[in-house]
Amino acid sequence: MKKIIIASSNEGKIKEFKALLHEFDFFSLKDFFNEDIEENGNSFKQNALIKSRTVFDSLSTKDKKDFIVLSDDSGLCVEALNGKPGIFSARFSKQGSDEANRKKLITELKNLNLSQSKAYFQAFIGLCCVYGEFCASGVLRGYVLSEQRGENGFGYDSLFVPSGFDKTLAELSFEEKNLISHRKKALQNISFLLRLFKKD
Ligand code: IMP
Repeated sequence: MKKIIIASSNEGKIKEFKALLHEFDFFSLKDFFNEDIEENGNSFKQNALIKSRTVFDSLSTKDKKDFIVLSDDSGLCVEALNGKPGIFSARFSKQGSDEANRKKLITELKNLNLSQSKAYFQAFIGLCCVYGEFCASGVLRGYVLSEQRGENGFGYDSLFVPSGFDKTLAELSFEEKNLISHRKKALQNISFLLRLFKKD
């Protein structure tokens, strides 16, 4: 079982998944599933499993034997905002675009007269295949700024400085981010299962 469907349409996440799991063959979600998935869980973990389960359950019996479905539910938790935006990171602003979400975060920090706050990124990876449902998590600690720096990456990368660095994730290269990211750690934590299933 070397074939993976990523249950996401977020190009930033998909690019990172492919680089982090280069020994697998990736298939596009839209070739198998074209509906919106309602993320109505109360946690990153629940939402990650909702995404991978919904796509896996929709596959034909044959595809279920051939494919592993992976999902990612992730977000940014900011201490000064009591953990917001958290599981609502993608929908923080009304518009829901990365740019509008960053602007809302900057405004909320400035409203508190803060130029930075402790924060962390959390990622949960959901994995569904014929053997069952599995989940793993990863965290990246650091702080957020009230001004953007850097052009790389996606989402909140230009506002987040990882602990031990003096650059935002958007000022690091793609490869540098992939060495330390919450997504990388979560994938590492589930990689023993992926290696096991790959032999099948
Ligand atoms: P999801 O698709 O519901 O998991 O939404 C994830 C949200 O968190 C999106 O707004 C992303 O932009 C943001 N996010 C998750 N991971 C990262 C990351 O590695 N960098 C920047 N933003 C991220």
